[in-house]
Amino acid sequence: MPFKIIRSDITNIPCDAIVNAANSSLLGGGGVDGAIHRAAGKGLLLECMKLHGCKTGQAKITGGYDLPCKYVIHTVGPVWHGGNHGEKELLQSCYRNSLALAKEHQCESVAFPLISSGVYGYPKQQAFDVAVGVIKEFLKDNDMDITLVIFDRRSFEFAKDYSDNIREYIDQNYVDEHIDRTPRFFAKATCARTAVCEERAVSDDIDDFIKNQIDESFTEMLLRKIDEKGMTDVQCYKKANIDRKLFSKIRSDRLYKPKKETAIAFAISLELSLDETKDMLMKAGYALSHSSKFDIIIEYFMMKEIYDIYTINETLFAFDQKLLGA
Ligand code: ADP
Repeated sequence: MPFKIIRSDITNIPCDAIVNAANSSLLGGGGVDGAIHRAAGKGLLLECMKLHGCKTGQAKITGGYDLPCKYVIHTVGPVWHGGNHGEKELLQSCYRNSLALAKEHQCESVAFPLISSGVYGYPKQQAFDVAVGVIKEFLKDNDMDITLVIFDRRSFEFAKDYSDNIREYIDQNYVDEHIDRTPRFFAKATCARTAVCEERAVSDDIDDFIKNQIDESFTEMLLRKIDEKGMTDVQCYKKANIDRKLFSKIRSDRLYKPKKETAIAFAISLELSLDETKDMLMKAGYALSHSSKFDIIIEYFMMKEIYDIYTINETLFAFDQKLLGA
């Protein structure tokens, strides 16, 4: 997934580079900086001492030492002074310069904390919006896996106007069904499979039969819709928060069965209506149901015609649901 939001401690994330919200001395401090130095060990401090500090908005790179990453990118976020002292531009520079360094060092995966949103006092929702804005822009022209790490989700102030509306929509629509049909289906499938496996020739025949009987597969519908919308493949998978490799896999396999989050991500990217989305999901063997919060949230955004995957993922994260993409 090119962009994801997770709740974690950044020092535990295996990736090419993690970003440190450092202070201008680069000699360690509290918060995430302290956690990174403690986990990396003394070598990190020794290397930092040779860097002679860093200006606000700039970034410098070191090794990862005992951390599960190759590099640490140290950037100095702005202190919040009310928002009229260039804080936003400086915070944007932190993300841009860190991403530029990561790219220069051929990093394929980078994890960021919410820079400036701790001791430096930048309001969390605004800090989050700046982070997502720069990352989104960067991913338009670059391939990289970028993770935004939220340490303390309780303080993740989810203050978007629609959050209350979504809560209300979920309350109105959530049906807590616990009908478990799995054993019945499973038993049937197991018997059928055992019988078929006895005779290889029969199995091949059935494969051919299925291939001929499926009218339009998920892959075929996806490619048709991309054409109909006048999009390129790249535009479609980027907007869906899907990486290039997965898209190629889907493209080359007529009967590919995507995960539900992947199928919905494409429906969002293609800006399909709710009915079209249901058709597309059916091709992959899924449905939208009111017994799932995830499904209701998706339905809500589709009805509102909000097709920005970043906004939807932010909401899914706030409601502790899986994110869209691969
Ligand atoms: P700043 O001085 O830039 O505000 P802080 O370290 O005080 O830096 O906080 C930045 C963000 O990092 C805060 O949102 C804080 O909750 C978060 N944070 C603190 N420790 C960790 C950690 N181990 N992993 C990820 N994020 C962390």
